[in-house]
Amino acid sequence: MTKWVYFFGAGKAEGDGEWRDLLGGKGAGLAEMTKIGLPVPAGFTISTEACDYYYKNAKKYPTELKKQVAENVAKLEKVTKKKLGDPKNPLLVSVRSGSARSMPGMMETILNLGLNDRSVQGLATATKNERFAYDAYRRFVQMYSTVVMELPKEDLEHRLRAMKQRMGVKQDTAVPASGWKELVAEYKANFREKTGKDFPGDPIDQLWGAIGAVFGSWMAEKAVTYRRVEKITGLLGTAVNVVQMVFGNTGDNSGTGVCFTRDPSSGEKIFYGDYLPNAQGEDVVAGIRTPMHLSEMKKAMPKVYAQLEKVREKLEKHYRDMQDMEFTVEDGTLYMLQTRTGKRTPAAAFRIAVDMADEGLISKEEAVLRIRPEDIERLFYPVIDAKMDKKALESKVVAHGINAVPGAAVGKVVFSAQDAEDWAKKGDKVILVRRETSPEDVGGMAVAQGILTATGGKTSHAAVVARGWGKCCIVGAEKINIDYKSKTMTAGAKTIKEGEWLTLDGGEGIVYSGQMELVTPKLPPAYDTLMKWADGLRRLGVRTNADTPQDARKAREFGAEGIGLCRTEHMFFTDFEQPEKGHERQRAIQEMILADTKEARVKALDKLLPFQRRDFIGIFKAMDGYPVTIRLIDPPLHEFVPHERKKQEELAKELGISVEKVAQRVEQLHEVNPMLGHRGCRLSITYPEILEMQVRAIIEAAIESKKNGIKVLPEIMHPLTLDKKELSILDQDTRKVADEIITQSHVKLEYLVGTMIELPRAALLANEIAEVAQFFSFGTNDLTQTTMGLSRDDAGRFLPDYVDEKKAGIFAADPFQSLDTKGVGTLIRWGIEQGRKTQPKLKVGICGEHGGDAESVKFCHAVAMDYVSASPFRVPISRLAAAQAVVEEKKNGHKKRK
Ligand code: PEP
Ligand code: MG
Repeated sequence: MTKWVYFFGAGKAEGDGEWRDLLGGKGAGLAEMTKIGLPVPAGFTISTEACDYYYKNAKKYPTELKKQVAENVAKLEKVTKKKLGDPKNPLLVSVRSGSARSMPGMMETILNLGLNDRSVQGLATATKNERFAYDAYRRFVQMYSTVVMELPKEDLEHRLRAMKQRMGVKQDTAVPASGWKELVAEYKANFREKTGKDFPGDPIDQLWGAIGAVFGSWMAEKAVTYRRVEKITGLLGTAVNVVQMVFGNTGDNSGTGVCFTRDPSSGEKIFYGDYLPNAQGEDVVAGIRTPMHLSEMKKAMPKVYAQLEKVREKLEKHYRDMQDMEFTVEDGTLYMLQTRTGKRTPAAAFRIAVDMADEGLISKEEAVLRIRPEDIERLFYPVIDAKMDKKALESKVVAHGINAVPGAAVGKVVFSAQDAEDWAKKGDKVILVRRETSPEDVGGMAVAQGILTATGGKTSHAAVVARGWGKCCIVGAEKINIDYKSKTMTAGAKTIKEGEWLTLDGGEGIVYSGQMELVTPKLPPAYDTLMKWADGLRRLGVRTNADTPQDARKAREFGAEGIGLCRTEHMFFTDFEQPEKGHERQRAIQEMILADTKEARVKALDKLLPFQRRDFIGIFKAMDGYPVTIRLIDPPLHEFVPHERKKQEELAKELGISVEKVAQRVEQLHEVNPMLGHRGCRLSITYPEILEMQVRAIIEAAIESKKNGIKVLPEIMHPLTLDKKELSILDQDTRKVADEIITQSHVKLEYLVGTMIELPRAALLANEIAEVAQFFSFGTNDLTQTTMGLSRDDAGRFLPDYVDEKKAGIFAADPFQSLDTKGVGTLIRWGIEQGRKTQPKLKVGICGEHGGDAESVKFCHAVAMDYVSASPFRVPISRLAAAQAVVEEKKNGHKKRK
């Protein structure tokens, strides 16, 4: 019989912290904390396998589940010595979701379950607090109505406000028992009216309703969106945790909080968190009231604080990572409700990893594994230019808030998540301003440059979600007043309307009006340390895809060890060093394309030669001592000539030819399917003079650089090869030109000639191609396109459906972003094996976009490539991923490379 339910309580648990996949993060954490002797309320977890079963069987529960839940309820009643629905001293439970990966606030929770008209009186008697008991009851009816039955929240909130008005009170804490009683009755009437059913009184019926709602929330729009944005795939579903309720809202000696074992913003080793006295669990996360800092709690409740400190130490030592914990204090007694690996800013991720390795808590290898590729990407987020005049800056301050996530953001103000999405779609940069955010807002939050909320603390929904994304975020800017109707916000005398510019400084928590200059920040010291550790571990080389000396220099700063792909055609249009010469270059290439004799073509190519040579000199200089792979012309020629009549006229005039001739040539170059047409090395087969010019430019630049004391290692690469004979013709042509120039120069220069492998045929016949090529570079953009039969330029229209788990869910990721290791990967493996059968030491790399994608880099490591090549900003990601591949390989005990 399958076990679907796992119990924990009284110091024992049926699972542990390792069982995240089965019990979800929360369930595994509760089991583990129970086992290590922390104060955890008892409960049980319905496994994620049950959720998986539920969705695979038309939303039906496994047959054994009912019995197992009943047994576990009985066990829980025994351990807690209380009974569900008991009119004297009732057991109440919370029902919470929790999947293997944390999805803060995205799924459902129901608290105070077990209350009905009889048990509420028992609760009132047992706690000697009628007001509290009825408050708990109305919260339960409210949550059950909105979460389980999905009745509109606003109706209930409206009734709450009206009741408070009737009672003449402002704060919830001032509502008397009679007020809550009235509200319960109203909520129940509303329930009956909207659902046609009575509110369920039987706690077991309530429990099944709640279990259904939690499973249902796994596929709710917001949860699916969050998983898509966070690239969370491959999970079974959510677990359901049914846990004995403890109350943080029984009076001033109670409360609830969220804390981190280290500062999640800076990574500093300080105890960090928020505490809300006399409040229930969700109040802190919802950010409705602004909580107090832990240091204040220390003063108010020194004993409980000291106990919490001990828990902090124990949990961090135990998990060997920064923990994010939820706790409740009920009448002076501490209960731990959750522990999980804390989300952190990228800078904090580096600091925590390096500090923990220095403290001996983890190894350097583990420290390297702790960094995610996104952490690196987000390190390069901008801040407000420090050169900005301080006085001018001060005059633009709109409000101060809590600096939840650092980095700065500039954008136009919008006041709803939907507007944020709509505006962003039109290409606008937006700042999303809300009183508070809720999980429904994630779509808008994801596209916003930054997020600003009027309420909430550092652990509010907005802060937690934005931190996970490394997105600039300010919360608790209480001085701002937002009017959603008129789409304006005011702060003191300042009014800001929708569409006006705002700048957020998430590091300082300051909101400015206007559009400020932003600059890229300095990397935290821990970055260099950790990247050095990574470099010491990795086997793969990391090069860059760079077409200009500027990009090459930038890539060197990011740690690139050479160029894996220089797309020469990118040099035909713009002159990065002398922009005024751009037009001249453009005209020369167009003249070459329009030429109808070889002589005319050569004449035009002669004009291009000095430009290309100068570019190569710049690139060789930037890459002094590192290999530079230069690819000869690749795209179809029609891409270089104008298609509009007016532009054709201009071109004709400048070249002194008739416009008809231009139009005719453009027409001749037209192809129905240019991606599979006259492109790649086919161009050099047809027009060997283009090859000749390019090889000349490369070799002459190399010789000149060498004479200037620069160490050059040129690698000439032919794109889109499909056959050995084709490549050997190109190889001979290349060597003929190169060797002649080298001989004449009397400079000793070595160079390589190789090819891209970007067609299935080339991969299949790699053994033959390796008889000619001195190196292979996998062009996985084209290889993905040609293997899958998906146009890299058009597939974006439908590929999102292929990735969307709610639609088709065919691929875990976009294959143009993350390598299809199953299909395209098989060709790569085969190509490498076959190539190395012919040439055991054949140098192999990758230069498609996948070279900067962490998962793909790990694959490249596994198939024994020599290097990957990524765009400059992604070079650090590849360095890290390459190191992680080594550590993971070691951990798994597989030696994949023979
Ligand atoms: C490729 O196809 O993977 C590649 C690097 O070449 P390009 O993107 O220029 O076609
Ligand atoms: Mg290509």
